[in-house]
Amino acid sequence: MGTLDLHMHSTASDGSLAPDELVRFCVHECGVRTMALTDHDTVAGVEEAARAAAREGIVFVPGIEISTRYAGKTIHIVGLGINPHHEELLTVTTRMCSERDSRAVRMAARFAELGIDGMLEEAMTFSARESNLSRLHFAKALMKRGIVKNQQEAFDKFLGEGKAAYVGAPWGPVSSAVELIHKARGIAVIAHPGRYKFDADWQLDALVEGFRECGGEGIEVVSGSQSPEFTERALRYARTYGLAVSAGSDFHSLSGTRPRPGAQGELPQGYTSVLKLLGLAKA
Ligand code: AMP
Ligand code: MN
Ligand code: MN
Ligand code: MN
Repeated sequence: MGTLDLHMHSTASDGSLAPDELVRFCVHECGVRTMALTDHDTVAGVEEAARAAAREGIVFVPGIEISTRYAGKTIHIVGLGINPHHEELLTVTTRMCSERDSRAVRMAARFAELGIDGMLEEAMTFSARESNLSRLHFAKALMKRGIVKNQQEAFDKFLGEGKAAYVGAPWGPVSSAVELIHKARGIAVIAHPGRYKFDADWQLDALVEGFRECGGEGIEVVSGSQSPEFTERALRYARTYGLAVSAGSDFHSLSGTRPRPGAQGELPQGYTSVLKLLGLAKA
């Protein structure tokens, strides 16, 4: 049972536990003692999670997972230790949440063209908020209607890039996300680098190099969203570019495919960790 988890979602985006429930679950069911909440494109859950973590007496890192575009793919940049009240962060993320909502309307129109009606309403029943709809909410709606058997099938048939109901979102470049995280006094971490399916290896190398050049500080070397075999390559990036290492489950819900909080595994020894950059550990 791992005691650290620096990448998790709540109902503020596409997770299924409320921020305070997630904290209690982490502490009482999973033994997590240091955690970050990193919802997609929002800090709406951070204050509630921080209060719950203070009550439980654990270390809480305010975070976010920002959507960006690079080489025709969606790349996620995690911000850790951010000030959740930072004005520009709030302005930009509020705009991103409404972009998610207009994308959802367009996705529902694509479903209607495919003869599947009412998908916006159905997807919204899976979102605790009125805003910040995710493709995962649509996947749940498809499963509920029996149109697909599981999440993977929903993405393979309808929601993945280029699939029948896919609608792109106008996410900015990686450099803008890094800059925004820095303005909000956080450190920037490349999320689950092993999950991006580039055609050629050099494209991932170029992504990591570009991330470093614009001031990015960390990389998830252990992630519930990538294979354990990828850790060696991620550690090579950490060494080559002097990036600090991070670890997180990418937990969304108990019924999901990701490990439970903390169960992704520990940070490797012998590397500078993001916790050190955050002033929370010696190494
Ligand atoms: P969005 O951020 O709204 O574009 O939706 C992407 C989210 O869907 C991810 O953050 C995951 O939580 C979830 N997801 C689940 N399975 C997949 C998959 N096979 N491909 C992409 N996203 C997935
Ligand atoms: Mn998600
Ligand atoms: Mn992600
Ligand atoms: Mn995530």
